[in-house]
Amino acid sequence: MFRRNGQQHVTRLDIDHDKCYSCGACVAVCPPDSLFLSKLTLQVDDTTCTRCNRCVAMCPVHALALTPVESLVS
Ligand code: SF4
Ligand code: SF4
Repeated sequence: MFRRNGQQHVTRLDIDHDKCYSCGACVAVCPPDSLFLSKLTLQVDDTTCTRCNRCVAMCPVHALALTPVESLVS
């Protein structure tokens, strides 16, 4: 578990860049504008992402996932 902006998160948003084709659909639905395209590569601002899951549900090619942080530590 780690803490950002006073919030504790047990997940992290992961982007599968092999699947993502930079359509921008996820960027449009992110409430805190945590997603952005930089030279057509999707990036996430982990410090503002609230893990709301909207982008994960929106992606037509399932390129996004909220991954448990614990599984990333080992
Ligand atoms: S999980 Fe929610 S807050 Fe985080 S990047 Fe996706 S839409 Fe934005
Ligand atoms: S909705 Fe999916 S394919 Fe489109 S930019 Fe977001 S992650 Fe990439």
